Amino acid sequence: YYDGNTVLYLDGAFQKASEAKIDLYGQSLHYGYAVFEGIRAYMLADGSMKIFKAKEHFDRLKRSCELVHIPYPFNNEELIEATYKVIEANGLTGAYIRPLVFCPPDMSLKAAASSSIMICAWNWGAYLGDKLLRVMTSSYQRPNPESFQIESKSSGLYVNSILASQEAKGQGYDEALLLDINGFVAEGPGANLFFEKKGGLYTPPRGHILPGITRATVIELCHELGIPVVEKFFTVDELKQADAVFYCGTAAEIVGWESLDGQPFGKSWTGSLGRIIQQAYKAKVLEQSIKPESKVA
Ligand code: PMP
Repeated sequence: YYDGNTVLYLDGAFQKASEAKIDLYGQSLHYGYAVFEGIRAYMLADGSMKIFKAKEHFDRLKRSCELVHIPYPFNNEELIEATYKVIEANGLTGAYIRPLVFCPPDMSLKAAASSSIMICAWNWGAYLGDKLLRVMTSSYQRPNPESFQIESKSSGLYVNSILASQEAKGQGYDEALLLDINGFVAEGPGANLFFEKKGGLYTPPRGHILPGITRATVIELCHELGIPVVEKFFTVDELKQADAVFYCGTAAEIVGWESLDGQPFGKSWTGSLGRIIQQAYKAKVLEQSIKPESKVA
């Protein structure tokens, strides 16, 4: 992620990652009381770097903080400018960007009185790889929305993601699928999902998921491409009857599934709507026009 020359942004200043320090007596480290974002920047055809949906991501960072009462005294336009500087200072030609808002020294369980922000970036390939995924239904559920602000991208919540992902990998799968407390399909440890059935796409509604920015982009692309898309609750049994399934997220981008609990899907990935969305997503982040032949309607 970094070496001796890597530069990050911390509370208004740029400094070497290897020299940046944090206090060990803080709620963020001890209680997972911090909030973060995952953003990508792509190199466009003209050689410039462009952060995809920068405003949406920094707006979500602010909202995530508000939901868990972490002060957010930052200006998002300034943060976006700082992020471009971090990308430039590190000479990145493709970047995964990680802003983190964390709290000052305090061991109490009171809401934070102030906060700090750091922004770092590194070159990160597709986080789930580009092979089709063998997915396992996790024995871990997504957290109960009545126990947590689940739409806040809070650090502590990710222990749930680590447990699910570790369980799946420990059993020889590529990734986990988590259900919600009612037994409906929710999302992956770090991605939302869509399934294809009879020419349309389906995805779980808000309520038990992190409403991803990529998920919103996929829905936009469906509208642009004339693909019917519906948000609804569904079970694992219904998902197993799908023609095809894919995960989507900033880090993962769009990645198809090979199987769920060892059971393959009806359609080949190359002939699926997910594949069309994958190509359209790539074009969108690179600010290229969608090839007309990929349009469905
Ligand atoms: N769900 C979870 C639990 C995630 O961690 C992520 C990644 N941020 C997503 C969904 C996808 O969100 P996005 O498309 O905004 O990256």
